[in-house]
Amino acid sequence: MHNPPRVPSSASRLLTAVHRYGPLTRAAATEHAGLARSAAGQAVVQLETAGLIRSGEQRAIGAGRPSVVLAADPEGPLVVAVKAEPTALHAAAYGIGLRRDREVVRRIDLWGISPDRLVSAVLEVAGEVLQGQWQRCAGLGLAFPGMVDEAAGIAQISLVIDWREPAPMADLLRAVLPQGGPLTDELTVALVRDSTAVGIGEYGAASAGVLLAVAGERHGMGSALVGGADRARTLEIGHLCADPSGPRCTCGARGCLGLYIGGPELCAALGIAPPSTDSDAEVEEAVREALADPANAAAVQDLAGHLSRALTSVVNTVGPDEVVFTGLLGLLAAAAPEQIATGLRESVVARVRGTRYRLGRTPRAALAGTAELAFAGLLADPSKWRAASTAR
Ligand SMILES: [Zn+2]
Repeated sequence: MHNPPRVPSSASRLLTAVHRYGPLTRAAATEHAGLARSAAGQAVVQLETAGLIRSGEQRAIGAGRPSVVLAADPEGPLVVAVKAEPTALHAAAYGIGLRRDREVVRRIDLWGISPDRLVSAVLEVAGEVLQGQWQRCAGLGLAFPGMVDEAAGIAQISLVIDWREPAPMADLLRAVLPQGGPLTDELTVALVRDSTAVGIGEYGAASAGVLLAVAGERHGMGSALVGGADRARTLEIGHLCADPSGPRCTCGARGCLGLYIGGPELCAALGIAPPSTDSDAEVEEAVREALADPANAAAVQDLAGHLSRALTSVVNTVGPDEVVFTGLLGLLAAAAPEQIATGLRESVVARVRGTRYRLGRTPRAALAGTAELAFAGLLADPSKWRAASTAR
């Protein structure tokens, strides 16, 4: 998405294999990377010299020879993923293999914030999560709670933080990232819609085919169609029409789905006061309890009915292989499995394609997906890291 198409080098293919599937035996990594043994050998030397991977750890397999295992170098590069929410910035640093290193939540009211102020807040929280080690940083990703031109790095509009004017957030961030470190010029800066990042995070290494991710956030809802980190597309499922005679949505249309099952609306329907905490876990716990409360049975049926009907339409339209429900909508789907199954059964496309659904399983999927995008530059050309390191 953020790099021009090119033929990946052997080092790129091997590092990508370790990132997605590692730790791996050298033989397995060579196979995943689709390399000849000699090319893999050279790539291992290059990646080890650059401090990107470590090898040599041995694991006896049966009675045969012990095999060499390749793993991410724990002292190697990190990327920072920052998720902007209406009242907080969540940031985490990730190593190769999406190992989560550190996490920080900074409370901040983003309503009406200027691009410049958002840039400095992101930079500050990124520095905090890196503990100032910018020389280890290989990329920065920002998940934005609104519409984004991902290829151009432009944050276009967000109704939940009153962001009205498009701003080139990726360029603004690049301009202020710490200079002087050997890797500054190589930093990948990725801007992504938050719900699209959830889809990328959920897609993970094991998925195949096309995944439709439906995310329930405290401040709204979103969805994305994903066929790999480089093939992700935002879907504004929250603005699907649920009732043409319904109330007016902030988008201008009537009766949008988000007005019924978006985060705040879902909480209200279950009798939960608007959450005043920054802890996703606390909000999720309150919603989980309310969904299980027999007094809410009718409300749950109603909410699940909306989700189920939308599911039929969206699956008919985009034809995914798998649907994943995350966050608050994951909890709703788990509380009403019959209705969700009905929604799928009523889709002719799901019946023909054998579309399945599941609940989210990636912790902090939005941050993980954002980190995945921030790693794109390093994975595409690991030689830049070595060149930079030896220049030190
Ligand atoms: Zn709408």
